[in-house]
Amino acid sequence: MTSLLHTCEPPSLRLRFSLHRRSRLGGRTATPSHVSLPPRSRRLAAARAAMTTASDELGKGIAEFYDESSGLWESIWGDHMHHGFYEAGAPATITGHRAAQIRMVEEALRFAVVSDDPLKKPKRIVDVGCGIGGSSRYLAKKYGAKCEGITLSPVQAKRAQALATAEGLEDQVSFQVADALKQPFPDGQFDLVWSMESGEHMPDKTKFVGELARVAAPGATIIIVTWCHRDLSPSEESLQPNELNLLNKICNAYYLPAWCSASDYVKIAQSLSLEDIKTADWSENVAPFWPAVIRSALTWQGFTSLLRSGWKTIRGALAMPLMIEGYNKKLIKFAIIACRKPM
Ligand code: SAH
Repeated sequence: MTSLLHTCEPPSLRLRFSLHRRSRLGGRTATPSHVSLPPRSRRLAAARAAMTTASDELGKGIAEFYDESSGLWESIWGDHMHHGFYEAGAPATITGHRAAQIRMVEEALRFAVVSDDPLKKPKRIVDVGCGIGGSSRYLAKKYGAKCEGITLSPVQAKRAQALATAEGLEDQVSFQVADALKQPFPDGQFDLVWSMESGEHMPDKTKFVGELARVAAPGATIIIVTWCHRDLSPSEESLQPNELNLLNKICNAYYLPAWCSASDYVKIAQSLSLEDIKTADWSENVAPFWPAVIRSALTWQGFTSLLRSGWKTIRGALAMPLMIEGYNKKLIKFAIIACRKPM
């Protein structure tokens, strides 16, 4: 599978990470490792350990990006940091965006056939790449389940926990800084394994899905909703140079490693003997999202908050039209991959 993913790795990948070489260990990204705030030395050790498997530079970049930008996102868009799911072709309204984000969660659950039956519904959930915990709290409430969220961003973990406490969910959900590629959980813990728009950040997709499968309990559902590139045609060995060029620019802005396709994910899931593997292309359903984010950035509140937020966030905002271009060119695909761990 490494060689499979290698075919979609732009040659400049390693070079790109050298752009983000500035180390901030000892700074914000290396401080709290768990929001229950153990002593500083333990927090530092855990945060360092969390960075060892996600390529160090990429992991630091991701942590810094979300440390810096999550507050702005939350103030305008709320606690779900992912696309909304819209009726294909229907116009999107500003007030409808929040509902569309919730719908994304519901559509993902429906697609994966997660049961509402009190006897079958998930009781232990992991939210891999949890942001500020929008999905974690929603799923914990919906199913009356326990949910554990992991993120690389200490700021996100702390904010996610504060929101959980404010909602009276502190006994049900918890958050920590940890690497999805080396999760701090024993094998077979969770009956719903959830990754909403974090897979695109993972530098090793095989290891990523392998970890999702490892922490899944027998019979558990695994849901990955993620940015992919288009499937390659049988005659292609890689994307076209102009396509790689566009993806490279997006990678630089959003701290992403090489992309893969939805069929690459399916092949990984098959290689891990996962069952009931299903995938769908929801690109049409998310089409109104990026234009709406751009419009929100162009309001007075959006614009002034953006200027105050910092360079990484501004660079992310400047890259938003590139996402639209990628979707329009049918290069970027918004994909869901769902499967089940064998009993
Ligand atoms: N799932 C959330 C947030 C999506 S933003 C939501 O839908 O609201 C992407 C998230 O992935 C961020 O929280 C980021 O910290 C996390 N992430 C990226 N790479 C990660 C890694 N290697 N380990 C853990 N979390 C990671």
